Amino acid sequence: MLSLPKLQVTREHRAIAVLTSGGDAPGMNAAIRSVVRYGLSHGCQVYGVTKGYSGLLEGQIFPMELSSVANIIQRGGTILKTDRCEAFYRKSVRKEAANILRRKSINALVVIGGDGSFTGAHLMEKETRFPTIGIPGTIDNDIIGTEDTIGFDTAVNTAVEAIDKIRDTASSHDRLFLVEVMGRSSGFIAVHTGIGGGAETIIVPEEKESIQSICKQIERGVERGKTSSIIVVAEGKTEGRSTKLAHALEKKGYPPKVCILGHTQRGGDPSGHDRLLASVLGASAVAYLMNGKSNCMVGVQKNQVVRVPFNQVIGKKKTLDKDILALARVLAT
Ligand code: ADP
Repeated sequence: MLSLPKLQVTREHRAIAVLTSGGDAPGMNAAIRSVVRYGLSHGCQVYGVTKGYSGLLEGQIFPMELSSVANIIQRGGTILKTDRCEAFYRKSVRKEAANILRRKSINALVVIGGDGSFTGAHLMEKETRFPTIGIPGTIDNDIIGTEDTIGFDTAVNTAVEAIDKIRDTASSHDRLFLVEVMGRSSGFIAVHTGIGGGAETIIVPEEKESIQSICKQIERGVERGKTSSIIVVAEGKTEGRSTKLAHALEKKGYPPKVCILGHTQRGGDPSGHDRLLASVLGASAVAYLMNGKSNCMVGVQKNQVVRVPFNQVIGKKKTLDKDILALARVLAT
């Protein structure tokens, strides 16, 4: 069970704004709900910002009540909408963003997003001294300093469910399937999905796998009497990696069917795990702000909520645990 940070709530930061930025992830709504309800219950005013940094620059900022977040914990996506905002890469624009918030008497900003969104928040705080705090919301689980991110569990569950369905067809038709999952340049979704779905092979961006070695794994299965196989392929930097792999396998005499799960993994009702994680991290972010702590991300380490300075998080990449990948390979034999 996740444990909350033991904090004494002081009178810092009584007016807090919250936004979601970058890619959406299931559970973001639960995090918004927690920020709003925990903040209001502790005497803060809480403001919602629509459409991430773009909406902030347009002044799309509105006060939130307890009822503003009613009936959203179970919904995927983000009620605040999200966006990618090119202008925020400019220092002058970040200064203007801080001024917009100050003019509304808001004195801290909660950013729910990934590494890019945290970079924007960190720079804004560094340059303007406007306090910011990040909550990791991304299905990729690629943020360093936290073992878990909001949306990862749901995305893995979605992909595992898809594999279960694909396996019915694969075994009925004696077929080889390549199932491509999201994760950008991280293999976390692929490995967790591969283990959970009992995949025969898992291809991750972190490790080079030759066509010969993939064929060997397929052949081993065939020798053991397997008539169908599922290979989970992490998308890598760009979507469609499995299509290239399919051509290569076809040339070797193993023509596969390809299923790219794509954005189906980003949407949907958040799992119970993600709802709890988001609720705990949302409340913790507000608690830290009320303790005068900012320029950092809230995360989870060893089942405890921790605070990690932004400069130890941004621009870095969490590495895949090689033991879990090795276990996946053992279980697939
Ligand atoms: P994520 O937060 O999911 O990693 P992005 O990388 O797309 O998503 O970043 C979301 C937004 O954060 C960008 O559109 C931009 O507004 C802001 N951002 C990202 N990187 C930077 C940066 N280096 N400097 C300032 N703002 C940034």
